[in-house]
Amino acid sequence: QNPVPQATADQVAARVQAGAVRHEPERYIDLAAYQAQGGYALLRDCVAGARSVDAVIAALEASGLRGLGGAGFPAGRKWKIVRAEPAPRLMAVNLDEGEPGTFKDRVLLERDPHRFLEGMLIAAWAVGIAGIYIYLRDEYHGCRALLARELDKLRAEPPVPDLPAIELRRGAGAYICGEESAMIESIEGKRGMPRLRPPYVAQVGLFGRPTLEHNFETLYWVRELLEKGPGWFSAQGRHGRQGLRSFSVSGRVKSPGVKLAPAGITVRELIDEYCDGMPDGHRFYAYLPGGASGGILPAALGDIPLDFDTLQPYGCFIGSAAIVVLSDQDSAVGAARNLMRFFRDESCGQCTPCRSGTAKALALIEQPRWDRRLLAELSQVMRDASICGLGQAAPNPVDCVMKYFAHELGDEPGDPP
Ligand code: SF4
Repeated sequence: QNPVPQATADQVAARVQAGAVRHEPERYIDLAAYQAQGGYALLRDCVAGARSVDAVIAALEASGLRGLGGAGFPAGRKWKIVRAEPAPRLMAVNLDEGEPGTFKDRVLLERDPHRFLEGMLIAAWAVGIAGIYIYLRDEYHGCRALLARELDKLRAEPPVPDLPAIELRRGAGAYICGEESAMIESIEGKRGMPRLRPPYVAQVGLFGRPTLEHNFETLYWVRELLEKGPGWFSAQGRHGRQGLRSFSVSGRVKSPGVKLAPAGITVRELIDEYCDGMPDGHRFYAYLPGGASGGILPAALGDIPLDFDTLQPYGCFIGSAAIVVLSDQDSAVGAARNLMRFFRDESCGQCTPCRSGTAKALALIEQPRWDRRLLAELSQVMRDASICGLGQAAPNPVDCVMKYFAHELGDEPGDPP
């Protein structure tokens, strides 16, 4: 996460032409098309005083919109907290999207980038933001070219006067830089390592200033939500939950992809109603409800509503809603080994429980017979003593295997729990 030289839009375009940049979407809603469809009218209304900051924040709170990067913090409350801090205030947008199995932000960005940019500018107006940093995953070459071009157009034809300064920053491929304080370190040009909190980034964030930090998708929904009213968003949902979620579904389903579905839908409903079922010859066996970090659950628990807070009793969480479906041709033990290898490689190494714990856990689960007592103790230490979510969540898949897939471990009756 050393600083990466930032390319200009022209340089990126030249690299696209030279074939050095892959996969730029050919068709998307550009600035002219977005404005022709009424885009930026809401931002203009806000800036012109037709909507007050208090009314916009109240609408956001009433809608129940929560941070969609994984933490699920209520968006309206976050705007209020940062707004109450002294100026100048900054904003950091997380477009790192490094959680394995998550690809929703890329898909939405490649189709409708200005919907996100308008939401971002409304947030900046409401909170009084002086400068915005968009932190984009380095592997998203096409998105970078697209975003650089559309930002240039926006600066050339600003929809409102006094647009805040907007900088597009490239990550350098580190998973940990998706963690908000590590991302801030990286934007500042330092090695991306999570900070100890407090102070929180809302108080002391980018360059020591109060910082509004948001995931791309949270901002993507702001325009629709304010136009249709808070009741529209909160009226969606299933099994007693509220809102919509963009699920990134991958693995053993007939039609994987980004599925916009009601919050609280179960994985079984998601597979059957949105993904055309399991591929021929595969039976639903297990699923990862929240990418690499959210744990592994068996098909027998496939009727739990998928949402923030609903999976905690099972030792799992939904995170950024990356659902990976496993079939009877996969194994939970194999998945857990793969995930722990990933965590060992991606640990920033700052704290011992995570740096040594992930390596130790991997060595233990690569044995044909797991030392379950030692693994349970190690998981507890990692959970209790790691600085950030990576080390705290890394034991989730291992704990889930011991809890729900003991048959794969060849346990005999009477083995220690
Ligand atoms: Fe780094 Fe892991 Fe510690 Fe997080 S838990 S600060 S990733 S070593």
